[in-house]
Amino acid sequence: MSDRISRGQWESRGARIKFRSRVDDISRMLSALIFDRDWKQRLRFKRALMSGLGYVAVAVLLVVAGVRHQVPEKMALVLAASMGLSALSLVIFIRSGLNKSCQDPSLSMPQMMLAMTYAAWVYSLGGYARDGVLLVTCPLLAYGFHYLRARQIRLVGLYALIALGGAMAYLVVGQPAHYDMGKELLRFMVLALIVFLTWQSAKDQGGEDGSWSEWLATWVLTNDPKQRVRLQRFLVAATNFAICTVVLLYAVSTGAVDRQAGAMLSVYMTTQSVLFYVLLRSGLNLRFPDPALTLPQIIVAITCVVGAYAILRESRGAALMLLVMVLVFGMFNLTARQARAASFFALLLQGAVMWGLVSWQPQFYAPRQELVHFLFACTTLPTISLLSGQLSDLRDRLRQRKDELAAALEHIQTLATRDVLTGLYNRRHMMEVLAQQAKSADGSGRVFSLAIIDLDLFKSINDTHGHLVGDEVLRNFAQLVQSQVGASDLFARWGGEEFLLMLSDCHEQHAQTCLQRIHLAVRNATLSETLPELKISFSAGLTQRVCGERVELAMERADQALYRAKRSGRDRTVVASS
Ligand code: GH3
Ligand code: MG
Ligand code: MG
Repeated sequence: MSDRISRGQWESRGARIKFRSRVDDISRMLSALIFDRDWKQRLRFKRALMSGLGYVAVAVLLVVAGVRHQVPEKMALVLAASMGLSALSLVIFIRSGLNKSCQDPSLSMPQMMLAMTYAAWVYSLGGYARDGVLLVTCPLLAYGFHYLRARQIRLVGLYALIALGGAMAYLVVGQPAHYDMGKELLRFMVLALIVFLTWQSAKDQGGEDGSWSEWLATWVLTNDPKQRVRLQRFLVAATNFAICTVVLLYAVSTGAVDRQAGAMLSVYMTTQSVLFYVLLRSGLNLRFPDPALTLPQIIVAITCVVGAYAILRESRGAALMLLVMVLVFGMFNLTARQARAASFFALLLQGAVMWGLVSWQPQFYAPRQELVHFLFACTTLPTISLLSGQLSDLRDRLRQRKDELAAALEHIQTLATRDVLTGLYNRRHMMEVLAQQAKSADGSGRVFSLAIIDLDLFKSINDTHGHLVGDEVLRNFAQLVQSQVGASDLFARWGGEEFLLMLSDCHEQHAQTCLQRIHLAVRNATLSETLPELKISFSAGLTQRVCGERVELAMERADQALYRAKRSGRDRTVVASS
């Protein structure tokens, strides 16, 4: 075939090959210019380019929608410009390699958060874009699965809920004529369902940091058990406030409550809830004498309820019920005095508000009816404060019992683990401690030495000077040896005039030096104040416990060495090599 190809054809084929190789060169050069050499960076860059293109596409759509007046034009342009800028910054940031100094160089989390922020922003423009946003959010969350850890997925989901929920609320509140609350709520529920599913899947994907509910609980309620209880109690109250706010807003929508007054009270209730949450969650509450902030919470709650009484018109009787509920809340935490103060404050404020209502709007508020309400409050509130006082007494007594029990338990523990005469660990406890020590020494490959110490001719001290002197010598000997060894060494009474010394992280030679030092100290010490001239000595069997060896075996060796020490004349330490 080839010899039939004409010269012209050859030339054109050569030119084509040349052209192709030049194109290849240029594309290689371009690719080296655009992409990083590091394959990871290249991947990150490509991913950033992809999302950048996505942003540009959305920005173009927004501009078109803005020009056609389907969405507010100015806002659409600002949003489109901002998106383009973000996409460009992201691409430049990654190409420059600045991302490498970040904890997560692929910037997955910031990218997801940015995407969710834009999703919420686009949503807030309203119109048909809303459903588009919801549609895009699902794949975005799914995308997160590949690159985010379980905890991050939960955080992104939560953020999406807050941001998009905020956008929905913005539309419903800002343009109630165009956006129906029910429909937006439905959309929110769909989103919540998706987020919930991602949370669940994140849990299945890898339980690296516990279940999502546990994580959320830690995030909302902290890890500190005491703070948790405080926050949980606060959240119950906050939930009540939230329900009351919803009811109040409903009352406003039906015209039962004045719009402005209702809005003001809602804002007040929400603000105080947020402030108390911040105080409790940040730990600032710990600076107060009562970190649960019960009294302040009760006082603020009373102002909310009395405020509700002032604006609820015909339904104000319900507020009196809430007042009772608030004081009942205080029952479990307030002291008798605080409970009295709270109920006095409630009555005073309630009375003042009733007085004000009767005097300023006598056409709506009949004095007799207000008096009945007030008398009702006068009988109920002091009763609650009385009961609170009794509960507080009960709590004090319980606390006292608890303290007594704790002290008794500590005493029992001391009795179970310590020797009564010397205060040293007793044999049983020492055996347990030794087993633990052996385990941890094996884990870290350390050795320790054991010495069984027996006082020499102790019986004769008892026989000559009496048991009391013997006891005194035992006590002082224990104290002396304890003062000669390190904090990590253990010294126990093994029984009678026998002791056990464990020298941690200590080889045979070093242990031997240590025992020589103790021999010297005992020889020179005064171990009986009643008989200062009394001198004693001891014999010891010493051995090193090798890694993995049973403690009982080492003890057996030390015991035999002690026997040899006694046989060879006492007042010495004999080493049994392992
Ligand atoms: P060796 O040098 O061979 O050890 O002679 P020893 O006399 O020390 O040995 P032996 O075992 O014969 O005597 C130990 C004595 O220790 C007997 C006992 O009365 C006395 N002893 C044991 N526990 C106590 C105690 O709590 N208080 C007093 N005072 N003496 C005790
Ligand atoms: Mg003895
Ligand atoms: Mg003995």
